Amino acid sequence: MGTMLDNAVVNGKAIKDWTIEDHNIALDTLGAHIYEPFPGVLVLGGGSKPYMLKVLTETENGEVESELVDGLACYSAVPFGHKDPVIVESVKSFIEQMATIPRSISHSYLGPWLVKLQEFTRMDMFLPKNGGTEANEAAIKLIKKWGKNYGGKDGNGIKDVPVIISAKNAFHGRGFGSTTMMDDELSRKDLDPLLPGFEHIPYNDIPALEAKLKEHDGNVAGVFLEPIQAEAGIFIPDEDYLRNAQILAKKYNSLFILDEIQTGYGRTGADFAWQLYGLEKPDLITLGKAMSSGVLPVSCLCGRKDLMEMFEPHSEGSTFGGYPLASFVGLLTITELEKRNITKLAAENGKYLQGILAEVGVKHRDKVAEVRGKGMLIGVEIYPKFNGHTLSMNMLKNGVYAKETHSTNLRIAPPIVIDKFGMDRIADALDKSLMDL
Ligand code: PLP
Repeated sequence: MGTMLDNAVVNGKAIKDWTIEDHNIALDTLGAHIYEPFPGVLVLGGGSKPYMLKVLTETENGEVESELVDGLACYSAVPFGHKDPVIVESVKSFIEQMATIPRSISHSYLGPWLVKLQEFTRMDMFLPKNGGTEANEAAIKLIKKWGKNYGGKDGNGIKDVPVIISAKNAFHGRGFGSTTMMDDELSRKDLDPLLPGFEHIPYNDIPALEAKLKEHDGNVAGVFLEPIQAEAGIFIPDEDYLRNAQILAKKYNSLFILDEIQTGYGRTGADFAWQLYGLEKPDLITLGKAMSSGVLPVSCLCGRKDLMEMFEPHSEGSTFGGYPLASFVGLLTITELEKRNITKLAAENGKYLQGILAEVGVKHRDKVAEVRGKGMLIGVEIYPKFNGHTLSMNMLKNGVYAKETHSTNLRIAPPIVIDKFGMDRIADALDKSLMDL
């Protein structure tokens, strides 16, 4: 806390005096129940180090303030950690000057951001959006447009509904197209009919992809994958999977699209995860999360010029996509990422962190099936008879915020700038938490 609204009275109390229970009641009664936040803990702000969070915790002796290691970095969205002075000061200086204006009039930062994006991603053109799922929705539109005009065996356009093939257990966000690309039952429940023309294949299975391409030969417009399945439990494909998938997509005159929303911006030890696997540049990639250093929702569809030129005025748009603050923060993030060599740091820190977590895994081999990762995107898989949610609750008790994905995986993805002390604390907490599992 420490803002001008701390003393604002809401529901009869200054916000700074709200108890954890007050917050829980407001969330329970007024917020749609789409998350299950940890009970008994409230984040007050960034902590004493960039990878720490200041929290209030309910204890037998009342509410106590302490610090947690942030082992999640908002699902990879916070590479520099919290309260980074350069990011904070730059954003402050910017909002003192620039108003919010729509895309129908130019401003001084969109152009420079686009140039920097081109240098950094090596893609040709860009459509800025806000949340990650919006970038995926725009990608789906573009794939369909391309399919209608240039897809099919002869490249003269698909006459039926263009098909997009995506992977089982994928996560692409909550828009309707993104949801249709996911096979997860809870996400799809009661939403039928979802969008037509979507097919799911097992991830990391080239014969299954080829069979699906053959089944819909002449109608497939896109193969849409995550380079590493993050929400599925940090599932890392075989070295040649993506390369072969890309080759197959081309063979069947289909676009090849990667969702780098969680893996991009250095997280995996490469600027973008596709660069880890010797691929040709994908036709389209989608980005989000870390694009803004985690200070606001910024996402982007990036792609080949001839594809992106299919968008025209009125075919797409966004009030805040590419607005001044997003463009400024987008540009600032790439600049800082390069200046601080964050990608290399993710590779180095990732090697260290994976190493010490693997040692803990070996020590608890009766509970841990595997520790796997790329750079600073790491998963600890436990055997199904153990409960991932209990493990993340134990981690919290031991001073680390990390979260399970599905029931048997603990995702560990701290701010990339975390130091050795912080990484040792994560490994130590995992050791203790597994002991109590
Ligand atoms: N794609 C991937 C791979 C993601 O991990 C996420 C979010 O976790 C999304 C898309 C959706 O991003 P957002 O929640 O910003 O819409």
